Amino acid sequence: MFKSASLKLTAWYLALIMGLSLTFSVVLYNSSSAALRASFEHQRVIIRQQFENAFGFAPSLYDPRSAEIGEAQQRLIASLALGNTAVLVVAGAASFYLARRTLGPIEQAMEAQSRFTADASHELRTPLTAMQAEVEVALRDKNLSVHEARELLASNLEEVRNLQDLSNGLLALASQDQDHFAPQSVSVEAVTRQAISRIQKQAEQKDISIQNDVSDLHVLGDRGELVQLFVILLDNAIKYSPSGTTLTLGSTAQNGSAHISIADQGYGIKPHDLPHIFDRLYRADQSRTKDKVTGYGLGLSIAKKIVELHKGAIDVTSRVGEGSTFVVRLELSR
Ligand code: ADP
Repeated sequence: MFKSASLKLTAWYLALIMGLSLTFSVVLYNSSSAALRASFEHQRVIIRQQFENAFGFAPSLYDPRSAEIGEAQQRLIASLALGNTAVLVVAGAASFYLARRTLGPIEQAMEAQSRFTADASHELRTPLTAMQAEVEVALRDKNLSVHEARELLASNLEEVRNLQDLSNGLLALASQDQDHFAPQSVSVEAVTRQAISRIQKQAEQKDISIQNDVSDLHVLGDRGELVQLFVILLDNAIKYSPSGTTLTLGSTAQNGSAHISIADQGYGIKPHDLPHIFDRLYRADQSRTKDKVTGYGLGLSIAKKIVELHKGAIDVTSRVGEGSTFVVRLELSR
C-alpha cells in the first residue's frame, strides 16, 4: 500500500515540478522569440536607413522572420528540451526521495499501531479463552456442586478484573492528548504524598516501608496525571521488591528541572531488558520474583506517555539483586 502511495506522491510532485518547468520554458521561448524578431527588425531598419543615406534609395531587404530566426528558435527549443529532460531526471529522483521521507513516519506509525492492536488482541484473548474453557467444562459437568461453581465464579471474577485493568490501561494509552493538556504549578510533595496514600496498603501487605524525602518543589503539570505517574512507579517498585525492603523518594532541582527519584531495593532489571521496559506490553522474565506478579506490561508505557505529555524525561538505572532507581525529570514552575 505504501509503495503505491509513494509512487503516486512521486508522480504528483513530479507533475507539479514539470508543470512549472514547462510553463517557464514556454514563457521563455515566447519572450526570446519576440526579442529575436524585434532585434532583427531593428537591424533591418538601421541597414535600410544607412543604404538610403549613402545611395539615396532603400533596397528591399530579406524578411527577418525567415532563416536566421528559425535557426535561433530551433537552438532555443533544443536547449529548453535538454533543460527539461535534466529537470525530469533530477526532479524524479528528488520527488521519490521526498515522497519516501513524507510517508516514512506515517508508515512506521501505522506499523506500530497494527503491532499494538495485534499484541493487545492477543493479551485479551488469553484470559477470555481460559474463562471460556472453564465455563464450558463446568456446564458439561452434571454433578457440579455449589462449592465448585463458586470457585469457578471466583476464578472468572479475577480474570474479569485483570481484563478490566488491561482495558483501562489500553484506554489510558490511547486517551492522553496534548490538546487538552493545561499545565499548572503542582507541588511535587503533594503529588507524591497522594500517590503513596494510594499504594500504602500494598506496601503494608508486603512489609515494605516508604521514605518520602522529596523537597518542596513545584513543577508544571497536570496533578491527576502526575499522581498516576507516581502510582505506576511506586506500584512497580512494590511488585518487584521482596518483603521487608525500603522505597525511597527524593528530589533535586537542576537547571530549571525537578529530578524526582524512586529507588527500590528490589530484584532489579537485567541489562538486556532495560531498553525495552518502556515498550507497550513488554514484560521482563518474572521467574526471579518469588510471588506471582500480575500485570500486562502497560504501566511503564503509560508512565512514559505522561512524562512525554509534560515534555519531561524518565530514566532508569538498575542492578540485578540490588534494586532499581527511576528518575523523572519535569520542568520547574517559576
Ligand atoms: P508490568 O508491571 O505490568 O509488567 P510495566 O510496564 O509497569 O508492566 O513494567 C514493565 C516491566 O519492567 C515489568 O514487567 C518488570 O519486568 C520491569 N520493571 C518495572 N519496574 C520495575 C522495578 N521497579 N523493578 C524491577 N523490574 C521492574
